Amino acid sequence: MNTYGSHEDLAQKGHFYGVYLLCSQSLEQRYHGKCYVGFTVNPKRRIRQHNRGCDFGGARKTSKKGPWQMVMIVHGFPNNIAALQFEWAWQQPTLSTRLKIFPELKRKQSKESHFEYNFRILNRMLNVGPWHRLPLTVRWLETDYERSFPIELPQHMSIVSGKVAITASQRKQHLNCPATTTIWAPECHLCMERIEQPERSRLGCLNASCRLTCHMLCLANYLLGDQPGQYIPIGGECPLCETHLIWATLLQRKRLGLGGGEAQDQEDSADELSDVPDVDSDVELSD
Ligand SMILES: [Zn+2]
Ligand SMILES: [Zn+2]
Repeated sequence: MNTYGSHEDLAQKGHFYGVYLLCSQSLEQRYHGKCYVGFTVNPKRRIRQHNRGCDFGGARKTSKKGPWQMVMIVHGFPNNIAALQFEWAWQQPTLSTRLKIFPELKRKQSKESHFEYNFRILNRMLNVGPWHRLPLTVRWLETDYERSFPIELPQHMSIVSGKVAITASQRKQHLNCPATTTIWAPECHLCMERIEQPERSRLGCLNASCRLTCHMLCLANYLLGDQPGQYIPIGGECPLCETHLIWATLLQRKRLGLGGGEAQDQEDSADELSDVPDVDSDVELSD
């Protein structure tokens, strides 16, 4: 277990879903050392986007606060939903039902760096359900940051270092538009395909701080899950933040032009989850 070395093969099986941690190398004091947690299917492209700013698909929150270094990435999630839920909890330990029972995760300690705080949250997450059951790989991408986990990780997880190798076919799966295009259509969090007519077919969450964005049909199918034979869902939990969603309310809000996840206009749009104000993991605390 916990073997170091280059495990590029791990990333090549199935689709790649990763949740990464960025650290700012900005020369400006106020940004230096700040962290950002995001989701991606293509880490190499994602870090380029962050460093080129939001006009090129980067997140607003990281724009002009870099350069950013992707210091680690957790991968091996069975699907994008599992990865997006992991991202959500890592960003917002105080809101996650799995993590809010750990009061020590609520805030950064005064002597802790932002990186150390995020690392501590991650260490806890990897040891609690549902995540401790997943065959995850923790991959260090920057040797300067490498350290051991104070709480030992489950035996079936591995810790490796080195770049991720993603095959062309894994990449193709998620590239629905030419690589040169800089204006991205929103992507559905559920099927990961483009949402062609967002004004008509896109739905978001009832929780204002949740950035869920998906096809109306995909969300309907997701909510129907265990009610086969039905066509119209009554409600269910948001796949990202677990807020209870009522289908009729979602449609009503859509008709009024609210809650369609309109802020989502970049590829890998889930990164935008981190644009939530005041509850973020890298909020500066007065200490
Ligand atoms: Zn969809
Ligand atoms: Zn939600």
